[in-house]
Amino acid sequence: MAFEFDLFVIGAGSGGVRAARIAAQHGARVAVAEEYRVGGTCVIRGCVPKKMLVYGAHFAEDLHEAASFGWDIDGARFDWARLRDLVQKDVSRLEGLYTQGLDNNRVTIFGERATIDGPNTLRFASGRTVTAQVILVATGAWPARPDIPGAELGITSNEIFHLEALPRRALIAGAGYIANEFAGILHAFGVDVTLVTRGDRMLRGYDEEIVDHLVDLTRKKGIDVRFNFPLQSVSRSTNGSIVVDGGGQGLIETDMVLWATGRIPKTSGLGLEAAGVALDSAGAVMVDARNQSSVASIYAVGDVTNRVQLTPVAIREGHAFADTVFGNVPRTVDYRAIPTAVFSSPPIAGVGLTEAQARAEFGDAVKVYRSDFRPMKNVVSGRQERGLYKMITAGSDEKVVGLHLIGPDSSEILQAAAIAVKAGLTKSAFDDTVALHPSMAEELVLLK
Ligand code: FAD
Repeated sequence: MAFEFDLFVIGAGSGGVRAARIAAQHGARVAVAEEYRVGGTCVIRGCVPKKMLVYGAHFAEDLHEAASFGWDIDGARFDWARLRDLVQKDVSRLEGLYTQGLDNNRVTIFGERATIDGPNTLRFASGRTVTAQVILVATGAWPARPDIPGAELGITSNEIFHLEALPRRALIAGAGYIANEFAGILHAFGVDVTLVTRGDRMLRGYDEEIVDHLVDLTRKKGIDVRFNFPLQSVSRSTNGSIVVDGGGQGLIETDMVLWATGRIPKTSGLGLEAAGVALDSAGAVMVDARNQSSVASIYAVGDVTNRVQLTPVAIREGHAFADTVFGNVPRTVDYRAIPTAVFSSPPIAGVGLTEAQARAEFGDAVKVYRSDFRPMKNVVSGRQERGLYKMITAGSDEKVVGLHLIGPDSSEILQAAAIAVKAGLTKSAFDDTVALHPSMAEELVLLK
């Protein structure tokens, strides 16, 4: 049977765009459907606009401290609408670049929703169908809202980038990186922030001591952090504010609620089950190491598979899929030692095993090195905030199995150090490296 396309990608996000481009470069006839904007979550309403807001937020502290470095900053004032519009302008520029990248590789773009109508057939919102030898599901994930009365009164990360005006008060519900990042951003812009979570921990998967340090600093900044907060309902009061009922923890009155309560794979209504594609209990497409689903012609990459919900991972999966299926170069993604960061204030970054994970795996063979230090800039400015770096080693050769940092620029510092961890270097390799002085990163080679 002749198909109209060799590959049809549903979703022009991080994974889908990379897969489409690479498959086309391998000579495949490729089409992609996008129901919202080319670029996907990361570019349009995720990593990129978020990081721009983080940059904007930094000025709050920098301007405050400028006087300690001899600067008089008179009349400094923040204008949310200006930053919001500048961010959106750059998002549109990037969307254009992503579209151009697909055009340059002769990928046909359908600007509408597509669903699966069979192992080799797709149906557009308009009703038209197309056929393809291979279908790649790269539809990403969608913000979850808690199942409580009044949940619709809250917004999600999808809407936060478009706020008409900043609220005076905000309640953020969640324990993940998005909750912690927006707590820092909104606080820096002058919003009175309350951060609530159902459980007794933030940022599961990150080193606990580093997270405790972040929670401590977050509270010292004036953000109200509440654990074990059992969300019951949300309602609108007569004075227009929003009231969040925390059961035994009482009522909180606020002006905006941000749900940062997880992201669920976007498979609902996609026609996957009818086509015979197996989904897990979270609705994620189940795939093997080659990204192939239970239906031979249907593959999936990125957040929709719920493996590691990060852009660089989705990109690698998309690339490996295209090389394997269309380039005759079988490749799989190595999920070990993926560096990750939380762009909180201050940021945290980690790679490899946390102390608890290392102890569970290596027992007494684990050694932990710490540096609890006050960054030079903070000493000059009088800010009390300290950084904490942790190195986790295992075995008699002290192989570095984990590195966890909290402090200014920790994500920038960790990326380079992650190469050493991924390469399996030992503590002595770090010790043998001459310190770059004065820097915060030098703490990594001076750990005692
Ligand atoms: P997506 O990028 O979500 O792309 C899926 C695309 O499919 C979307 O454009 C969607 O509109 C489209 N689509 C869905 N269904 C259909 C359909 N039926 N028909 C047509 N089109 C469809 N990751 C990081 O690595 N670092 C970060 O700092 C970071 N920050 C983030 C901050 C926020 C606020 C959020 C929400 C996410 C962040 N992420 C970050 C996660 C990152 O954005 C995702 O991991 C990444 O975008 C996943 O790529 P993907 O290709 O799987 O899906």
